[in-house]
Amino acid sequence: YHAKRNNSGVEVYDPAHHSRNAARLSLLTELRAAVERDELVLYYQPKFALRDGLGLHVEALVRWVHPLRGFIPPMDFIPFAEQTGYIKTITLWVMNSAIRQCALWQRAGLDIHVALNISARDLLQPELPVIFRRMLDEHGCAARLITLEITESAVLDDPRHALSNLERLRATGCMLSIDDYGTGYSSLSYVRQMPVQEMKIDRSFVMNLCSRPGDEIIVRSTIELAHDMGLMVTAEGVETEDVLQRLGQLGCDFAQGYLISKPVSASDLELWMSSSRWAPVLMKA
Ligand code: C2E
Ligand code: MG
Ligand code: MG
Ligand code: MG
Repeated sequence: YHAKRNNSGVEVYDPAHHSRNAARLSLLTELRAAVERDELVLYYQPKFALRDGLGLHVEALVRWVHPLRGFIPPMDFIPFAEQTGYIKTITLWVMNSAIRQCALWQRAGLDIHVALNISARDLLQPELPVIFRRMLDEHGCAARLITLEITESAVLDDPRHALSNLERLRATGCMLSIDDYGTGYSSLSYVRQMPVQEMKIDRSFVMNLCSRPGDEIIVRSTIELAHDMGLMVTAEGVETEDVLQRLGQLGCDFAQGYLISKPVSASDLELWMSSSRWAPVLMKA
């Protein structure tokens, strides 16, 4: 248990502290069990190519289906996993599952590009690029179909190691993307050094694009900046036709958000492909 010192230097038991630590410990225990019991699932959220509507790109987003508590969103366990270091195990699970699914679709004749999220902590793991490459080979998945999304602040703690790992990941042939662009504190000099191919504008700037002039200035200049650096641009959090249309006028490449589709299971994604007005016309290979 946890004890705290009182003024006399004698340790006294602190029940509040104890229960918080107990809760954290049980969450970690449950999270470990979740991976072993296969309680994590990936949902997939498609993007829409604003220029021609062609090609299918999805982002894999993890969910925890808890036997008692039901559906747990990533924000309720990913930050915790990041703090405890358990994120490494979760990331390997996510990577393996996303690559396996991508390879399955590929074998079914569907060229679906799959993006997955990795955390800052993962980038400091020197073995990651080798493990990633091995997973691609094991599942027979083309590297060009996989994108790794990283937040800009992921390189801040240890830029040298993070950047060298990014280079090694990129060398496998996958794509790299900067997630939630605009929310971090990093300077453009880091972004410029990152070997990325895409920038995703955070939804906080996109949601009110048509009603807040300040947001439009940010989105417009970010699209220009990204294009000048040779990057593709995705706008997150597109919920209305107005915003979609404006993004098209601003030259944005992809739109992602509830207007196109919420994140859905792999089988529901296949339904979406055959029924949504936003789905590309897929040609069987
Ligand atoms: P993210 O990578 O920026 O993912 C986008 C989040 O915004 C998703 O939330 C998605 O459901 C939500 N979203 C998409 N379109 C809209 C929209 O039109 N309106 C609104 N209000 N929200 C929208 P989700 O799935 O809850 O994930 C939250 C965050 O958790 C992700 O943000 C990502 O940072 C993290 N995350 C999710 N899966 C993973 C994972 O497998 N590994 C890691 N390391 N982080 C993950
Ligand atoms: Mg993401
Ligand atoms: Mg994002
Ligand atoms: Mg986000």
